[in-house]
Amino acid sequence: MDRRDFLKIMAASLTLPTLLPAEAGQGTGRWLNLIRPQSGEKLSIIYKRNGQVDMQAYRKVCGLMRDVKADQASVIDLRLLDILDGIRAALVQAGVPNPTFMVHSAFRTWQTNREIGGALRSYHMKGQAIDFHVPGVPTDILFTWMQKVKFHQGVGMGFYGGTPNWMHLDSRQVGRTVIWEG
Ligand SMILES: [Zn+2]
Repeated sequence: MDRRDFLKIMAASLTLPTLLPAEAGQGTGRWLNLIRPQSGEKLSIIYKRNGQVDMQAYRKVCGLMRDVKADQASVIDLRLLDILDGIRAALVQAGVPNPTFMVHSAFRTWQTNREIGGALRSYHMKGQAIDFHVPGVPTDILFTWMQKVKFHQGVGMGFYGGTPNWMHLDSRQVGRTVIWEG
């Protein structure tokens, strides 16, 4: 079976919930599984319990989501992390075991952003954006689903081709939505 056939079968068997798990993971806490391909770092961590941020865990998340090139960390928007936790919870409901975000890019310094040709006012520079894919989940399926369940409210999200496909997500502002395909 080639990869395309595999993805087709995957997509057909992947039934994402029609409603968002509103308070995803609030009982046990909000958590994230993150991998940084550039550095090989991995993190599985609860960053919030009963609405309270675990500062030590949060700092680790911010560290992993740093600008790897410049080796500089910054504050990552908690709303962005909560959106990711919601995606994770939905994928668990859909039967994806242990959904993991492959973090291609998150916080960027102004200089790195310029070097890679990022948008002039990129939300990456504010710690409000992530470029990612979830292994085992076709990004186009995820992207379409996020719009269907109105996951996109108050976010910017962009779908990009390439192998593997990946998407951009940012927590720009509640009430503002921008969607694009790049
Ligand atoms: Zn991006």
